Amino acid sequence: MMRTGQEYLNSLNDGRRIYIDGKRVENIPDHPALSGISQTISRLYDHMADPKQEMTYTSPKTGAPVSKAYMIPRSKEDLTAKRLAMKKSADLTYGLVGRSPEHVANFLAGFASSPELFAEAGQSYADHVQQYYEYARDNHLFGSYAIVQPQIDRSKPAHEQEDPYLAAGVYEEKKDGIVLRGAQMLATSGAVSDFLFLSCIQPLRPGDENYAVSVAIPLNTPGLKLYLRRGYAMDKPSTYDYPLSTRFDETDALAVLEDVFVPWEQVFVYCNIDLTYKQFFSTPAHNFGNTQAQVRFVSKLQFIAGLVKKMTMTTGTIKMPPVQGQLGELISRISVFEGLLLAAESTAKPNKNGVYVPNPRFLYSAMALQPQLNNSVLELARELAGGGLIQLPSSYKDFASDETVKDIQRYVQSPGVTAEERVKLYKLAWDIIGSEFAGRHQQYERFYGGPPFVVKGQAYKYYGFEEADQLVADCLDSYSLEETLQESI
Ligand SMILES: Cc1cc2nc3c(=O)[nH]c(=O)nc-3n(C[C@H](O)[C@H](O)[C@H](O)COP(=O)(O)OP(=O)(O)OC[C@H]3O[C@@H](n4cnc5c(N)ncnc54)[C@H](O)[C@@H]3O)c2cc1C
Repeated sequence: MMRTGQEYLNSLNDGRRIYIDGKRVENIPDHPALSGISQTISRLYDHMADPKQEMTYTSPKTGAPVSKAYMIPRSKEDLTAKRLAMKKSADLTYGLVGRSPEHVANFLAGFASSPELFAEAGQSYADHVQQYYEYARDNHLFGSYAIVQPQIDRSKPAHEQEDPYLAAGVYEEKKDGIVLRGAQMLATSGAVSDFLFLSCIQPLRPGDENYAVSVAIPLNTPGLKLYLRRGYAMDKPSTYDYPLSTRFDETDALAVLEDVFVPWEQVFVYCNIDLTYKQFFSTPAHNFGNTQAQVRFVSKLQFIAGLVKKMTMTTGTIKMPPVQGQLGELISRISVFEGLLLAAESTAKPNKNGVYVPNPRFLYSAMALQPQLNNSVLELARELAGGGLIQLPSSYKDFASDETVKDIQRYVQSPGVTAEERVKLYKLAWDIIGSEFAGRHQQYERFYGGPPFVVKGQAYKYYGFEEADQLVADCLDSYSLEETLQESI
């Protein structure tokens, strides 16, 4: 049976150590910073459990339904089925939960599809990957990850920092496992997930062997602590005023490992710089995980397009040809991403293990353009929304007060749109364009896949210049100085 939303909620108070505002969170699903996102993930699990949604496939091991995010695609049809299932999940959250349960599930599927890579360090590591993948898949687990060293001094490798245990690394090797000490960033959704995948995606240098690990750690493991940033849901007057901040703030956290013991069965890579890097890029893991990220991003862009159209309908500006042109530009920018996502899927090829991998040319091009295009979409949304985003009552309470309600109803309406409806729409728009939640999202779209200069380097690496090179070679071959000289005689 699929996990229900209630089962998910019941599992969250398992002794995990989550800190916010200097205090340990006692009750995860009830805490003001976490209740909205817990309820959202719970709804997602209920949705997934509904067979009509077609978000599951049959586990090859148990025969029970499991999330398609865990599926290892062996055909283009599998890729399409995965995308449609992940789009349903993304649509349920309007593309606003970046690290939903589908994200890390895709990384694990990518790892499990390439056992030979992990076996380079010994068959037992490949077995750990396979067993943990099956365990997570068949128990419908929600993984989060922290795979970047804390931003302390980027000019030095981890082993040259003042203290060797600032970044998370191996402190001790024991017979039955390893002990990790240090910190890693930035576990988005970590507080409401089941396990943390901890590794390092940044290139490591010789001497960094202790930081070259890849492990899965259940959230309630002794010694694991998550420090959350400010919760955007915490001080909000109502969901009517902040409909997104209050329900979709997935939280981001610094993971601190205070001598965390990890049994060997949960260790995928151990003190191996080469394999730590290759697990992401010589398997389909990074590709699969970021394909999910693009599916999610397309949902969000479509949501923004719908919002902007509705705002221009409300104020009547949609009737003006220049505004229709701006809307045309907005949706053209948005369609580029949908097109790249579909292109990556339709030109996917099987790798040496017969696993279908979306075409990295289109995937990484989309990721490389994401920060600029995301900004330009928001810029157009701001321009078309005008001051309506700001000319809003301070909160729902203006509707509840006899002294204020009449003025609000009279002056904040539009033709055929009541003040209640109009305020609702523009407050929703503000929460995706201008609130603190919106600002964090801009930073997320810029950095979730790594710093932009690195992502652009991946776009360059995976473009595949054969056709481009051939076209230039053909053109250069099609004329010559010799011919020109002969013609001029
Ligand atoms: C909202 C949000 C959510 C995130 N969620 C997750 C998550 O769930 N899991 C996770 O593991 N990580 C997550 N991250 C972290 C993300 O992976 C990192 O932010 C990203 O890898 C960039 O690393 P950094 O922030 O340390 O930036 P840095 O590496 O410090 O880079 C910052 C800037 O410095 C410059 N710079 C740095 N190094 C160089 C160089 N060598 N050459 C030229 N310029 C350079 C660039 O301008 C770069 O943009 C998240 C980040 C954000 C903002």
